[in-house]
Amino acid sequence: MAERPHLVVVGAGPAGLAGALAAVARGVRVTLVDAAEQAGGQIHRRPAVAPAARSRPAPRPRAGTRERLRDALDRHRATGHIAHLTDHHVWCVERSPASGEFAVHALRGPAQEEGVTVRADAVLLATGGYERVLPFPGWTLPGVVTAGGAQAMLKGQLVPPGRTVVVAGTGPLLLPVAAGLAEAGVRVAALVESAGPRALLRRAPALAWQPGKLAEGAGYAARLLRHGVRPLVRHTVVEAHGADRLEAVTVAAPGRDGRLVPGTTRRIPCDALAVGHGLLPHTDLAEALGCALSGTGVRVDTEQRTDVPGVWAAGEATGIGGADLALAEGHVAGRSIAARLHGTAPDPHAWAAAARARTRLRAFAAALDAVYAPPVDWADRLPDDTTVCRCEEVSAGQVREAAGDLGAGDARTVKLLTRAGMGWCQGRMCGPAVAGLTGCPFTPGRRPFARPVPLGVLAALPEPQPD
Ligand SMILES: Cc1cc2nc3c(=O)[nH]c(=O)nc-3n(C[C@H](O)[C@H](O)[C@H](O)COP(=O)(O)OP(=O)(O)OC[C@H]3O[C@@H](n4cnc5c(N)ncnc54)[C@H](O)[C@@H]3O)c2cc1C
Repeated sequence: MAERPHLVVVGAGPAGLAGALAAVARGVRVTLVDAAEQAGGQIHRRPAVAPAARSRPAPRPRAGTRERLRDALDRHRATGHIAHLTDHHVWCVERSPASGEFAVHALRGPAQEEGVTVRADAVLLATGGYERVLPFPGWTLPGVVTAGGAQAMLKGQLVPPGRTVVVAGTGPLLLPVAAGLAEAGVRVAALVESAGPRALLRRAPALAWQPGKLAEGAGYAARLLRHGVRPLVRHTVVEAHGADRLEAVTVAAPGRDGRLVPGTTRRIPCDALAVGHGLLPHTDLAEALGCALSGTGVRVDTEQRTDVPGVWAAGEATGIGGADLALAEGHVAGRSIAARLHGTAPDPHAWAAAARARTRLRAFAAALDAVYAPPVDWADRLPDDTTVCRCEEVSAGQVREAAGDLGAGDARTVKLLTRAGMGWCQGRMCGPAVAGLTGCPFTPGRRPFARPVPLGVLAALPEPQPD
């Protein structure tokens, strides 16, 4: 019997799982590699410890989809057609131009000190997204976390970030975060959303195409009302206060000119602030492979192929759009990969339903994106002494000076002059803020490695074969 071609899928969220399952069902052997301890990605995150050991129940969004994906994964793992490498952090994917074969390099375990290399005939990048962080005075105080971070604490550790929490920023993620916290017994002191209802109404025709999504949003709103949480719209956090840790936040309504409207400022006592301004695609691995981007996501064609032969991308790595879009894209990618690895041209009619869903959901995501943009003038309001890059302790004033008096005309020169983006996170946190402050377009930093790699791991790699 001919050996099955081998696909490595990086990322076991909805996109990666859908891709892996579609490919394995069509005669492909799959290795699914993920940094997390369990499959499911961000939306289906589960506690690392048995829930019985903790007091509060874990929130279970979309349990049906989650169970269906997990059951199918378990079945294929039992037959040996899918290998699932958990707690494996991929730092680089290499493609041999001569053979077209891939080497996927990962670091294993929580210490991330042991190198593992998996070889493959094709790669599906389903690495999802990460949160956009925008600074404000006090954002580095203990008690201030990202919205997704607060949710990860609750879902993954069953621990809320505080007893009285303000959820703030913009975007649909704030709703499940606030609802999850309220249902876990946390007092949600305020849900502060910078977008206004008018922005939603302006996009109503595009949004109305996805009644299921609107119902999901309404469901969260109803759950919040049951807990007495009413959204404070068209407001933004202007400062977090506290001596050693967070004690309160000040919120206010920016006017059309970006200045705060007098009389709208209010101080809300709290011991945690969960703040989010939307998501950005994870593109490091794709960029290191030489894949082109479209906007901030990996550019793909109708089969979810990147412009590098043998590399597909699906889900939020290609653009932020939600779990259903990730599932549709992953399904298309998996079917395309299977056909291509078997040396045939895929029949797009076979995935017509997924392609239609993809079109609708991309339009919906674009409409949401326009509604939930970060407040236009947030950067102008940022005082000079606010830390922007917390790894390298660079302030807003230093970034402004680099782009002003020192004449830096692009993000790279700002980085060289200030060190903003040179620290541990490599600009993932401060990149959008530096772009906002300087007016330079935000381009994901091109990094050879997706995460720090011990020298010993690099030294132990085999010599590259001559092409
Ligand atoms: C923090 C956060 C919280 C969210 N909460 C919600 C929510 O409550 N409700 C909702 O509807 N949507 C939520 N979303 C959005 C939702 O997660 C996505 O719409 C959906 O899960 C996208 O699926 P995906 O497969 O593209 O990516 P993801 O589900 O993000 O999966 C990507 C996977 O790739 C893995 N990965 C990434 N890089 C590497 C690497 N270098 N090596 C190994 N593994 C890697 C990650 O560990 C992850 O498991 C959240 C997103 C984020 C970032």
